[in-house]
Amino acid sequence: MKVAVIGGGWAGLAAAVDLTAAGVTTTLFEAGRVPGGRARGIDIAGRRLDNGQHILLGAYRETLNLMQQVGADPAQLLDRHPLQVLDPGIFRLALPRWPAPLNVAWGLLSAVAVDWPEKAKTALWMQGVKWRGFRLPADTTVAAWLDAAGQTGALRRHLWEPLCLAALNLPAERASAQIFANVLRDSLGSSRRADTDLLLPRADLGTLLPEPAVRWLVTNGATLHFGTRITGLVPRPDGIEIAGSIYDAAIVATAPQHADKLWPPLAITFDYEPIATVYLEFSPKTALAFPLQKQSGKYGQWVVDRNNGLLACVLSGHGDWEALADDQLAAALCAELSLPEPPRWHQVIREKRATFSCRPSLARPDWRTADSRVVLAGDYTWADYPATLEGAVRSGRRAAHAILGKR
Ligand SMILES: Cc1cc2nc3c(=O)[nH]c(=O)nc-3n(C[C@H](O)[C@H](O)[C@H](O)COP(=O)(O)OP(=O)(O)OC[C@H]3O[C@@H](n4cnc5c(N)ncnc54)[C@H](O)[C@@H]3O)c2cc1C
Repeated sequence: MKVAVIGGGWAGLAAAVDLTAAGVTTTLFEAGRVPGGRARGIDIAGRRLDNGQHILLGAYRETLNLMQQVGADPAQLLDRHPLQVLDPGIFRLALPRWPAPLNVAWGLLSAVAVDWPEKAKTALWMQGVKWRGFRLPADTTVAAWLDAAGQTGALRRHLWEPLCLAALNLPAERASAQIFANVLRDSLGSSRRADTDLLLPRADLGTLLPEPAVRWLVTNGATLHFGTRITGLVPRPDGIEIAGSIYDAAIVATAPQHADKLWPPLAITFDYEPIATVYLEFSPKTALAFPLQKQSGKYGQWVVDRNNGLLACVLSGHGDWEALADDQLAAALCAELSLPEPPRWHQVIREKRATFSCRPSLARPDWRTADSRVVLAGDYTWADYPATLEGAVRSGRRAAHAILGKR
């Protein structure tokens, strides 16, 4: 069986690995020169960085499993921490290393800057959400969901809204409550403590999965074409024609705006949200109290300590920050961090279409197409999740298994 995978992001790589592991003759086409798509390593000014700072969760089971499969050891490559939301001097919620759900209960009860009535009300609400299996009667915005639950205090400002922005790349006023609830279900709501952990990459994103996956694919006989943009798939009686060759099946694992062009009519009508990563390099002794910190200035949202004095500030979704030039943005974030020294170096990376806008009741295209030989993969096809690495990997594996099931 010959199968083509179009797109070498995390979804396409996951699909290609599973196909190859099952003995399928796999050819992967990637338009870019390197693998990884929206989560890749890049070289800038002699530094190995990412196209955008990423944060993983212990709940990313399929991603961790795939890393292991291709020889990238998650224990070596990821720093695992019990979840902590820290805004120094303002808010702190830290989970202890206890079994779930005790860790979450204690984290909530010991949260700093939240009064007891609010803690009790939130604990009851979370229990109710759990009893209802994290299912909402109808999708709405996260803001409306929190309003209806009376979640209007410190936990909303310091926990739910920042988590929503980080996970869905949209502010609570516009984000889907059901998708946010799904993320909570599989992380804070999980009965497995490891799922609640925060995983911060110790290495660049290329080293985490894309490069080991490519090595594994080559070693196991797959063919990979980089710098090759596919312009169309032509259904023929004997297979799917792609770049002049016939394949028994194809997986379109591109971002939604590209899938639409390759396999019309998918009729995808998504809006997209940007993410900026602002790298600020200070002297090597500079370090944050916890490697992921919330910021609550005018622009800053989250900042990650990348070690050796390198900080990565993450700005998710549309906002005032977009109007600032790179130097102004870096200067504004430095001022908000109030560190004793100016940065030695900075770099701003703006991803204009980082994720699709995960709005309430967003219609996602079916991953199956009218031609059973063509299957879609990509973060946007994993309808349970917002745009995430885990959604991408799961979608790639599902696509591969659908094709394997047809053999
Ligand atoms: C800045 C940023 C920060 C993020 N932060 C997080 C985070 O903290 N945690 C998290 O879980 N997720 C995060 N995400 C989301 C995550 O990166 C994506 O959900 C995931 O990478 C999507 O993978 P994918 O394989 O579905 O799509 P993509 O990565 O878009 O891969 C599609 C690939 O297809 C290729 N392609 C397109 N058209 C063609 C064609 N015609 N022919 C051949 N190849 C083609 C593209 O070049 C690309 O490599 C972030 C994204 C960004 C941009």
